Amino acid sequence: MQTELSTIPGFEAVREAASRIADQIRRTPVLTSAEADRRAGARLFFKCENFQRTGAFKFRGALNAVRALNPQERKAGVITFSSGNHGQAIARACQIEGIKAVVVMPKDAPQAKMQAAQSFGAQIIHYDRLSEDREIVAKALLEREGYRLIPPFDHPMVIAGQGTSAMELIEEVGALDALYVCLGGGGLLSGCALAASALSPGCQIIGVEPETGNDVQLAFARGEPVSIDVPDTIADGARTTRVGDITFAIIQQHVTAIETVSDQALIDTMRFFAQWMKIVIEPTGCLAAAAALRQREFGPSAKIGVLLSGGNVDLAQYGAWLKAA
Ligand SMILES: *Cc1c(COP(=O)(O)O)cnc(C)c1O
Repeated sequence: MQTELSTIPGFEAVREAASRIADQIRRTPVLTSAEADRRAGARLFFKCENFQRTGAFKFRGALNAVRALNPQERKAGVITFSSGNHGQAIARACQIEGIKAVVVMPKDAPQAKMQAAQSFGAQIIHYDRLSEDREIVAKALLEREGYRLIPPFDHPMVIAGQGTSAMELIEEVGALDALYVCLGGGGLLSGCALAASALSPGCQIIGVEPETGNDVQLAFARGEPVSIDVPDTIADGARTTRVGDITFAIIQQHVTAIETVSDQALIDTMRFFAQWMKIVIEPTGCLAAAAALRQREFGPSAKIGVLLSGGNVDLAQYGAWLKAA
């Protein structure tokens, strides 16, 4: 789908986003752990977006994009498609701003995520992940009802909003040697790359995808976006099949490397956070940490930022994952 605002944002857009959303977002804590440092052989600083409003960083980009709408667009209402966290974030942002929200979600999205979007007053429309294209479903509604589309990652205002998480992290702990970021369609990674490259020059920026969904790794190696089948992974927030055009342009310019981790590594990392840091992190939220905890590239004095992107997980499923050691 063609993005209307096709200009590639720079760091200035991240700074503007920070002031546009400041009154409603939580400045999430940065946690450290001696056990994490021991495992990584470096100093890790975890930016805990599981504590963000709606339980994930997506609220930053959603609120920034909703607040940037003009009066006419606000009146028409907003539509989006999402595996969950972005839908929830758009719903909450629209509720705060008094705007109608329509969320197109897969039928098999986690129950907790669906209920949350509904509780924020959004209208939910379901589609079949395997047989229907969510963008086509959303586009039909958009054309019929005149809604404004805010996609989950390939949008300058969404990207800029997500970047405020890394901006806060660097403001709090200072310059970093490396920054590990969870990666689906690249909204979080590209926004964080804008912030880190401006505020911490020389910082290595590493995106981390699920092993089975390595579309960005392939694209990064090939120099152009690559499409893959819907990946089979427990990281439901990273089951994207193609990187965005805007996000990819920024990733190509600023990102050092793309790594992948297995579902088993995500489960081990969820267990690590529960046991050692007493925090609930969803599988997708563990991507960056799973790679940072096993890293051997940076030495003991290195400062490594790690984005924990969200904590929205079905509790019964979470319990089952923690139990099966
Ligand atoms: C959406 C999401 C991601 C991936 O973000 P992108 O901007 O699509 O790369 C990672 N973690 C969580 C918890 C998410 O909700």
